[in-house]
Amino acid sequence: MGLGTRFLSAVVASLFVSGAFLRATGPIAEVPHGQLPHEIVALTTSQNLLATDPNALGRFLETARPAPVSAEEKARILSTLPLDGEVTDFSASACQKLAALTKVLRATGRESVYEIKVIDVPQAAIGLHARAVILISEPALTLLDADELQALVAHEIGHEYVWTERERAFQLADRSRLKDLELMCDGIAIVTLHGLGMDVSRLMAGVQKIGRFNRERFGTANNERDYPTLAQRQAFARAVVKWTSAQTIGTR
Ligand SMILES: [Zn+2]
Repeated sequence: MGLGTRFLSAVVASLFVSGAFLRATGPIAEVPHGQLPHEIVALTTSQNLLATDPNALGRFLETARPAPVSAEEKARILSTLPLDGEVTDFSASACQKLAALTKVLRATGRESVYEIKVIDVPQAAIGLHARAVILISEPALTLLDADELQALVAHEIGHEYVWTERERAFQLADRSRLKDLELMCDGIAIVTLHGLGMDVSRLMAGVQKIGRFNRERFGTANNERDYPTLAQRQAFARAVVKWTSAQTIGTR
């Protein structure tokens, strides 16, 4: 494993663990809607998410989307990533999966913001690095179907809404908050996928595949206590799916 690969492995490990190297965005709470002042969206906990009107949340995710990192900041972030360890030679199937991400990135205003990098690390992992780079490990790219990869990237995009909150929870080692923020990102992903008319069941299918792959090869991750269990995520996802059935599709 070269220096760059070791560095990327460390980045992936910290993506699992933290949002530590993160630029702050404002916390999202009780934001009044510009055009519809009676609509108050409180994206503060997973339970509050379910208490919100699904259509209002769908609109909120668009209007309150955090400002992307600047071009200068993105260039700086990219300059910190090593070239060694990056995978650039793809099979036709891998190319198709990566191309399919455009749909989700475009719909969320991130097509020209995120750089997508496939990296040569042994774990199956996907993460958003510094709000600018989607890191996809080669095993994850191989393992996941295109729609599962889309769904997991929608989850990562969801992290932008709770970036500062997650950073704070990590610094405080607030495990229950970290877990709840993961559930919220699942919820945001499901709302996003539903709004795009996509199959929301692919999110948990992808989460399950990645979890199984890593557990079979690497055992229990040392940050597993910071994450909800698969059963908790599935239960919350079911609740969100039921709740989004009241949401109108195609509001974008
Ligand atoms: Zn996450």
